[in-house]
Amino acid sequence: MVGEEPHRPYSRPPLSKQYLSGRLAEQQLPFRADAALDAHWLLDTRMTGLDLAKSAIELRGGEYLPFDGLVLATGVDAKRLPEAPVFSDRVRTVRTIEDAAAIRRAMHAARARRVVILGGGFIGCELACTARENGMDVTLVVHSAPLLRRVLGARVGAVVGSLQRRAGVDVRLGTKITDWQDHGDGLRLRLDDGSVLDCDFVVLGLGGQPRTEWLRGSGLEISDGVLCGPTCHAVDQWGRTTPHVVAAGDVARWPNPRFDTEPRRIEHLIHAVEMGQHAADSLLRGPGRAARFTPVPRFWSEQHGIRIQAVGIPALGTDTEVMAGSMRSDRFLVRYSRQTAYGPQIVAAVAFDMPLELLRYRDQIGRTLPHTRADGGRGRG
Ligand SMILES: Cc1cc2nc3c(=O)[nH]c(=O)nc-3n(C[C@H](O)[C@H](O)[C@H](O)COP(=O)(O)OP(=O)(O)OC[C@H]3O[C@@H](n4cnc5c(N)ncnc54)[C@H](O)[C@@H]3O)c2cc1C
Repeated sequence: MVGEEPHRPYSRPPLSKQYLSGRLAEQQLPFRADAALDAHWLLDTRMTGLDLAKSAIELRGGEYLPFDGLVLATGVDAKRLPEAPVFSDRVRTVRTIEDAAAIRRAMHAARARRVVILGGGFIGCELACTARENGMDVTLVVHSAPLLRRVLGARVGAVVGSLQRRAGVDVRLGTKITDWQDHGDGLRLRLDDGSVLDCDFVVLGLGGQPRTEWLRGSGLEISDGVLCGPTCHAVDQWGRTTPHVVAAGDVARWPNPRFDTEPRRIEHLIHAVEMGQHAADSLLRGPGRAARFTPVPRFWSEQHGIRIQAVGIPALGTDTEVMAGSMRSDRFLVRYSRQTAYGPQIVAAVAFDMPLELLRYRDQIGRTLPHTRADGGRGRG
């Protein structure tokens, strides 16, 4: 197990929620390790290259680590803005314990009162909630509209927007920051609509950037993550399957035949766990005997006391229908569907505080039979 962080693997979802608010301590974040796992841990160790022909990983310092099988699970890094003053410790991102600890300190600093959060995805929205809980003035600046549109669609995204406003968040949609100034005492930001925001610090919640920089030159296809076939085996730049390399989690882009042949990345925890298990199984079986990975993705978020849960891939839906509750209350369930060459397909369901009702839809999406060829039309090379 090689990882550049000094810690053993830990749960990141609380970093924008319970850990940030102080309800969970650092010692409560690590995943429980199976005591029987006879692994060597190389922590605080960055991988700098992969030599496929020699089946070896290059480590920082030039040492090589040979392998028979390799699982790539390097995740993503938080995206930064080239124009933001990265030298300022008033501009933060959140991916690691250290990032979240720094934001926690900034939030609890004696004079800190105002925070600007940039980005309207899950992490941006959750950070807004936690900062409000801590009594801060929060402005959420998002260049698109509505919030979470890319993940949940415009209709449900609009509900999230009104949830945030009701909780006292100043939501600025369809705008972006055009000028950053650090006054020493705080930041002054100018938006493209001419307005000016003064704040103590900014947190960027702009999504993830796959950690594949160290794989450049390895021969693997790494545009937007590590490209995999349906069995999670990595694919090289010539479209050939690499039998001894698999990928999993946020960094892996693979076609889920339950939906179609388009390779996609999914950045959610349960998915990372399930794909890790499947990828390891595929590695041991080899491409010829491995099964396709056809999960129904699941994820959750918590915002201002409301639990948002999803099954499937809502972003694929072209039609939405409220199946239970009402969007005017904060309890409802929305079904997402689309037309395919094989007829209508339910692609997802999203529930606001309706966990039991959601289970039924997970089973329905789960019953849609994978209808594409095992290798996604790519060949097994
Ligand atoms: C603030 C926050 C809140 C979240 N909330 C939710 C949520 O509510 N629900 C949900 O489903 N998901 C949530 N997620 C997403 C979830 O945490 C991720 O999907 C999950 O962590 C992905 O696991 P992974 O193993 O693929 O990658 P990671 O957890 O990112 O692990 C990758 C590891 O590889 C290391 N690494 C990268 N490159 C190298 C290299 N060259 N050499 C050595 N090591 C390297 C990294 O340092 C890291 O330790 C959240 C994420 C964040 C950051």
